[in-house]
Amino acid sequence: MVIIDEQTQLIKDTLGIQKIKENTVYRPLSYVRDVKAEEGRVLLNLLTGEMILVDEEEFSLFSKTADMENDTVKELIEKWFLVPEDTVDANISKQLVTVINAINNIYTAPKLTSFTILPTTDCNARCFYCYELGCEKKTMTEQTAMDIVDYIIAKKQDGEIKLRWFGGEPLYNSKVIDIICSELNKRGVKFYSNMISNAFLFDDEMMERAVDVWHLNRIQITIDGPEEQYNRIKAYINPNCESPFKKVIYNVEYLLKKNVNIAVRLNVDKHNVEQIFSLADFLLEKFSKYPNFFAYPNRIFDDTCKNMLKKTEDEEAELNDKIFELKVKFQNLLNYRAKYSRLIRFKNHCMADSDTSVMILPDGKLGKCEHFTDSNYIGSIYEDKLDFKMLNWFKQMTSVKPECDECDLRPACIYVKCCPAKRIRCNASEKAIKEKNLEGYILETYKIRKSGKNEIEI
Ligand code: SF4
Ligand code: SF4
Repeated sequence: MVIIDEQTQLIKDTLGIQKIKENTVYRPLSYVRDVKAEEGRVLLNLLTGEMILVDEEEFSLFSKTADMENDTVKELIEKWFLVPEDTVDANISKQLVTVINAINNIYTAPKLTSFTILPTTDCNARCFYCYELGCEKKTMTEQTAMDIVDYIIAKKQDGEIKLRWFGGEPLYNSKVIDIICSELNKRGVKFYSNMISNAFLFDDEMMERAVDVWHLNRIQITIDGPEEQYNRIKAYINPNCESPFKKVIYNVEYLLKKNVNIAVRLNVDKHNVEQIFSLADFLLEKFSKYPNFFAYPNRIFDDTCKNMLKKTEDEEAELNDKIFELKVKFQNLLNYRAKYSRLIRFKNHCMADSDTSVMILPDGKLGKCEHFTDSNYIGSIYEDKLDFKMLNWFKQMTSVKPECDECDLRPACIYVKCCPAKRIRCNASEKAIKEKNLEGYILETYKIRKSGKNEIEI
């Protein structure tokens, strides 16, 4: 048995090792998924997040058994891959969430490792589906940027920290990025940057600064379609160029050559699903030679977006299938160079429930989630006091709907309760796609670990 992914510390602390009971018949936990791989079977325990590789002989022991003499059987029990026959699996999953919610209530004020900074909540594009439409537009001043440097130095952990530039469009107020990064460099702070941007406002000189001064490690760029469609959807204000698409493609290549990791996110919905495949072919032909390039499709954040039309179940299913097809195409043709983020997260699902991460708004207010820029603050860089009630509100976990209790994917569908981007529906097609995604996730993880390649975080 080879361990591919260990249980998280939180799971180790809460569930611990399952004690072996004498004279008991054990059966596989319903939350275990298995996928055939070259060297055997990869088993993923959705309850604990642990992933293991077993050979066919060991796999044959993953079945109903009362053989307590066998070492592999013992190990499978201790790791919660086998459970007593009369276990109600949903109860363990529910109890675990209850315990974790209780633990999450304890805030220990750790030093911070990650700072998400919004230079502005304004944007130079006008995508019709943007969830920030209607949010108040705030822009950071140079003085606030200097104050943020003091705050970071006072609150950061020892060693390297991560800055995450977000907006609006962070490049729409790039001068505060320059100020913060230059000042941190001057004061000897070790850091690297990630950014979510449309990458349109870069020019050569700014990209050089992004590498040298901002220490840009990774950028996520959304491209919604081939040239004509992209230009129409983005609807940039004063683009002042022949084609924004061409400019962004130029910038992507420039940054790839500078060794910045690029993750292109293809937002997919009914309006562009047909054209998105030709965009995928274009991107693959142009950029697959760069080992630091990755692309992946994603659904538009439509559940709360009033601009989107509700789809029928058939339309949902068709869209999900196309997105899955695209995802597999990217993974295969880019030779498994990126792994989707860990699926099983009871804690640190995202920055909202991470105690070591904070979001800094343009006016210095502190928040926890990019979807809450006008409200739900936890404090400010100008005061030490934090709103613990609000911090805890961001950390509560839940499943999607009551029927999830009956579902053998339940532990894979635990979300931050307040998350506006979480799926709020689940039907047969959604579930089928989750099954396929899980299988893909298991194979991706296995292949990446086997190859020893670095993962591109997406
Ligand atoms: S969201 Fe769907 S797949 Fe997930 S646990 Fe609920 S019913 Fe199952
Ligand atoms: S709660 Fe949802 S939207 Fe907010 S940071 Fe987490 S994943 Fe993103």
